[in-house]
Amino acid sequence: MKKIYVVGIGPGGQEFMTPQAKKAIEESDTVVGYTVYVDLVKDLTPGKEVLSTAMKQEVDRCKLCLEAALSDKTVAFVCSGDAGVYGMAGIMMQVAEEHPEVEIEIVPGITAACSGAAVLGAPLIHDFAIISLSDLLTPWEKIEKRLALAADADFCIVLYNPKSKKRREYIDKAVDIMSRFKSLDTPCGYVKNIGRYGEEAVICTMKELKENDNIDMFTTVFIGNSGTAVINGKLVTPRGYRNV
Ligand code: SAH
Repeated sequence: MKKIYVVGIGPGGQEFMTPQAKKAIEESDTVVGYTVYVDLVKDLTPGKEVLSTAMKQEVDRCKLCLEAALSDKTVAFVCSGDAGVYGMAGIMMQVAEEHPEVEIEIVPGITAACSGAAVLGAPLIHDFAIISLSDLLTPWEKIEKRLALAADADFCIVLYNPKSKKRREYIDKAVDIMSRFKSLDTPCGYVKNIGRYGEEAVICTMKELKENDNIDMFTTVFIGNSGTAVINGKLVTPRGYRNV
């Protein structure tokens, strides 16, 4: 009986991967993941069995990992960013519940909130909330409530899954909700394709996040708190202990 590593590979190429993640992939016989992520680690996979599946078949991917581990393979199940942030770590443990003999090790990675924040400056230096706008797994009413309460509490807010082809207007709705508590002039930013080909960072106001065709599903969006400012082209949230 071998083991399953659920590996967060970070946002992009190998330079964003931790040595622990690299080692887990190197030690594995089989690498499983969504095609894009398997492709990002292809330098580490020659000679290994590589199993990639389409986007939505998450449970199927977990079952593939479990079957491979039960047939005595060491498996690296790769996810973008961190494996435990909208990643596969939880669902993998649920699928393997009946097989406690299979060891599962979660290998953390740099989540898009951290890698994207670094590109923009230092927007998340203080308290922040991450909210996904995908209503595939969360009812939209709950997402609305979280947006409203986080905005009311003056958190910096990071939006994952801001848009997809089917949900183009969700980011606009999110801005409308947050604008009940935050000024439309609040400094914001977004980063597309962090650490990947085509990386693009934009600093703007909350108003400019609306009807914005540049934001897509490979974008992470940052909304400042009431103290966030633009300093020399960088998005900066003061920590609050020093008034400069
Ligand atoms: N486990 C991932 C998140 C998966 S949810 C992590 O920890 O980063 C998918 C969402 O994450 C995307 O819609 C986007 O909002 C964000 N995201 C993940 N990787 C990204 C990247 N390289 N560039 C920009 N956004 C990214």
